[in-house]
Amino acid sequence: MPVVGSVHARALSVPLHTPFVTALRRTSTIDTLLVEVRTDDGITGLGEAPQVWAVTGESVAGAAACVQQVLAPLIVGRQLDDWADIAASLAGACARNFGAKAAVETGLLDALARSSGLPFAHLLADIAGLPRPLLEVPTDVTVSAGEPYELASAAVARVAEGFGRLKLKVGTDAATDVARVAAVRAAVGPDIGIRLDANQGWTPEQAVDVIVALTAAGLGIELVEQPVPADDVEGLAWVRQRADVPIMADETVYGERELERVIRLGAADAVNVKLAKCGGPLTALRMLRRAREAGLGTMVGSMMESHVGVAAAASVVAAVGTSSVSDLDAAWWTAASPYVGGPSYERGMVKLPTTPGLGISAPR
Ligand SMILES: [Mg+2]
Repeated sequence: MPVVGSVHARALSVPLHTPFVTALRRTSTIDTLLVEVRTDDGITGLGEAPQVWAVTGESVAGAAACVQQVLAPLIVGRQLDDWADIAASLAGACARNFGAKAAVETGLLDALARSSGLPFAHLLADIAGLPRPLLEVPTDVTVSAGEPYELASAAVARVAEGFGRLKLKVGTDAATDVARVAAVRAAVGPDIGIRLDANQGWTPEQAVDVIVALTAAGLGIELVEQPVPADDVEGLAWVRQRADVPIMADETVYGERELERVIRLGAADAVNVKLAKCGGPLTALRMLRRAREAGLGTMVGSMMESHVGVAAAASVVAAVGTSSVSDLDAAWWTAASPYVGGPSYERGMVKLPTTPGLGISAPR
């Protein structure tokens, strides 16, 4: 069995074709740390740790320090066979730094999948004890926060490209959020799915006011993500009791501990699982199973990250499924892929390579 010989990390800054704007931030690049896990027999597994100051507080520089000083020493010299033990030691190696942990765990599993000749999603399905899946998953596409006419024209453009489900960023101004959503619904018609993400932008009272108004206007909202600040779990539960649209926890739930709290308090109808919040694909598999057992809806999303992170997350979805369509459009926003190979977007689907592992080669 191959042995991990070295771990390398480098910063990538990938330009977007369109600025990405939410209640929390505006960006025109994806800034991420690309991690390469190299084995003694020449295999390279990839993972990435996206910089997300406004949500996780993690940076490229911090992730690089964590990978080099804390995580790499735990994996170099270990056999790929020992992936389960290695993953457990990565998870407990330091506080937080979930993006860095996810990058190294993904790189380890990618190396294992390549070494086994399996697409990443097939390896995960084997681990979960499920049949090997088709290598494609549907995704929504986000429409950046903006004025109603800007949202409407962007929404029409996305639908023309084949996306059947839109995610609207609201929460920037509760007084005009209903008008934004109404403008998009009027522009795209009744058959396109619309979900909202307030990214913590409302108070509990504002959230209920906006959601009640949306319902009264008959705007057909699939779900509302993270209406209130991340640490206000009681507020989230309060909104859920008063809203007749499913409430999804995103920033409130990082890993298994926060998921248990949301289940215990009945604080959400559904949860958005992300590798850069929970620390890697193996924890994501456990969280999706636990949420399903507890009767919660599930979705897998990503940060603004590149094709490596999107491919890993899409592989989780392909392997075990979710109740809601994925939120994996991040790499669609890149002006050009910095990689060779990897996932592609075709009419609202993320198509995964059929080659071993993530099927992506790092840029030179
Ligand atoms: Mg979200």
